[in-house]
Amino acid sequence: MRNFFDKDFTVGVLGGGQLGRMLIEAAGPLNVRLAVLDPSASAPCSEVAHTFTSGDFADFDAVVNFGKEKDVLTVEIEHVSVPALYALQAEGIKVYPRPQLLEIVQDKGLQKLFFEQHQIPTARFALFNNGQEAVAAFGAQCVLKLRKGGYDGRGVQVVKNNDTAQNLFDAPVVAEEAVQIDKELSVIVSRNEQGECAVFPSVEMLFNPEANLVELLFSPAQISEALEHEARTLALKTAAAFELTGIMAVEMFLTKSGQLMVNEVAPRPHNSGHHTIEANITSQYQQHLRAILNLPPGDTSLRCPAAMINVLGEKGHNGPVLYQGIDKVLEYSGAYIHLYGKSDTKPYRKMGHITALGDTVGAAVQKAKQAGEQLKVVSAIHK
Ligand code: ADP
Repeated sequence: MRNFFDKDFTVGVLGGGQLGRMLIEAAGPLNVRLAVLDPSASAPCSEVAHTFTSGDFADFDAVVNFGKEKDVLTVEIEHVSVPALYALQAEGIKVYPRPQLLEIVQDKGLQKLFFEQHQIPTARFALFNNGQEAVAAFGAQCVLKLRKGGYDGRGVQVVKNNDTAQNLFDAPVVAEEAVQIDKELSVIVSRNEQGECAVFPSVEMLFNPEANLVELLFSPAQISEALEHEARTLALKTAAAFELTGIMAVEMFLTKSGQLMVNEVAPRPHNSGHHTIEANITSQYQQHLRAILNLPPGDTSLRCPAAMINVLGEKGHNGPVLYQGIDKVLEYSGAYIHLYGKSDTKPYRKMGHITALGDTVGAAVQKAKQAGEQLKVVSAIHK
């Protein structure tokens, strides 16, 4: 078996979006080659991967063909062909995160059952064949989540009493109690083949209520030391329960009564860890590579407080992208712009991000917001 520093050693990545692109950026200093599979020939990784293959990561044959010559396979998205990963694992190819874990995470119902079985605190829930059955049995104040296929808030319905029944999901769902959320947190944890773990300082996330996706986040979260400890311990417990190899973002709710609950996990680099590129001693991307290559985990400490703002496509703009105001963002000392290289914009599409460093969380947040306001992602074609 080849070692990671051997000339032809190659890590295969399923998914060629921005997370894959930043993974490639982190692989350079370790001199690790990343080969990428994505259906879109113009995906963010297409121009920067060592090799790029156009193909569907959800298709059995495409994944087996792509994976069979690789030394290690990993993912930057969960919605991949798990049967293909089992087949490759049986051939002796290392697949991290393991297919067993991906199979659970792909289905929000199985994920919630897993939390329950492993005494990981989570919002009260039940599983139903569709939204109507859920509301009839679970009550008209709940949160419905499609068991499969949802992401970035698509696939989540907050049900209120006055909702008309015909709008409810017509597919298998998880129904959850509507939690009184004080803060939404994310704690990223890594675990290598040997089980060596490391955990990043907690991140606090603020959501855009219209798009239901993370707009701004900062680290460290503004919580007590005791809660920080509790959140990190819970993230480590979750990673150990999953027998993780790789990195995992553990998304949590801090309830208004002060309790931590795990909402969901993502066994890959995550939006809530973008800031680690500049703000932490080791980035989440390098940490993921270290974990899947069975190298020792890096120091996760923050160099200083940081905030990250997603650069989203403007409402009302669809088509070839134009960036306005990049020069103004670059005037901010300690603000770092990352553009993902997507050729087309659409409303709320994640087109890039800005990380801002500061002496305090407040200063970093202010800088990220101010720098973010300078940048507009538009298209010459208005629709
Ligand atoms: P996705 O995987 O699409 O991001 P999430 O499960 O993270 O979906 O839910 C999206 C958002 O919906 C959460 O960040 C939170 O703001 C809200 N939400 C999800 N579950 C609940 C719940 N049980 N109670 C209250 N709000 C919730």
